Amino acid sequence: MHAADLVAAWEEGRGRTPGRRGLSLLGLLGVDAARRPGLSVGQRDALLLDLRGQLFGPAVVAVTSCPGCGERVELGFDVDDVRVPPPGDPTETFELRHDGYTVRARPPTAGDLVALETARSAPEGRAALLGRCVLSARCGDADVTPAELPDGVHAELAARMAEVDPQADTRLALSCPTCGRAWAATFDIVSFLWQELDDWTRGLVQDVHGLAWAYGWSEADILAMSPARRSLYLDLVRR
Ligand SMILES: [Zn+2]
Repeated sequence: MHAADLVAAWEEGRGRTPGRRGLSLLGLLGVDAARRPGLSVGQRDALLLDLRGQLFGPAVVAVTSCPGCGERVELGFDVDDVRVPPPGDPTETFELRHDGYTVRARPPTAGDLVALETARSAPEGRAALLGRCVLSARCGDADVTPAELPDGVHAELAARMAEVDPQADTRLALSCPTCGRAWAATFDIVSFLWQELDDWTRGLVQDVHGLAWAYGWSEADILAMSPARRSLYLDLVRR
């Protein structure tokens, strides 16, 4: 992948919400812009795991803190370790029957997440999500709105969505070496990859600055060089 494309992706995602960043990062894989919002969240995240492997390699090292004792816990895994293939097509609708209710729904898409980012509270966000993902709901013969569904049906819906699109919520099983506490943490590939791209771009801009300063080369010429050549010249400049 060309350095200039990565810098352009960083520029596009900068100042944007996580949902929009998720969509714009897919552009680096050549996914057509019109297709991106219709991908399920799990499909989006599976592609972003591919992208992470291509850009920075498969090995992930992350740091979190133990919810029990607050100790810093480092975890290492490969992107393939957190892949959870869906049992079928996660963009397809499904039917749920529970407690006399019949609901036709689909799991959230990458586009839904963008639309939900304007919600002003968690309950408003949940209501908006149901409004988008519940296509029809009936109690016996009567139509009901998504908001009228009881909590039990909402919980069943969430469980079914997670079942048909498991990659949408990537969980890591963690344990604390200090206090022994075990817990599950969510691995958010969008924010993780964005942070890596941000760090990488800032480092690259420093390199460009060093070479442009020393040799007077243009940014485009420096970005077009291989990382190995940039690094050779930087070694000379820093001598
Ligand atoms: Zn602990």
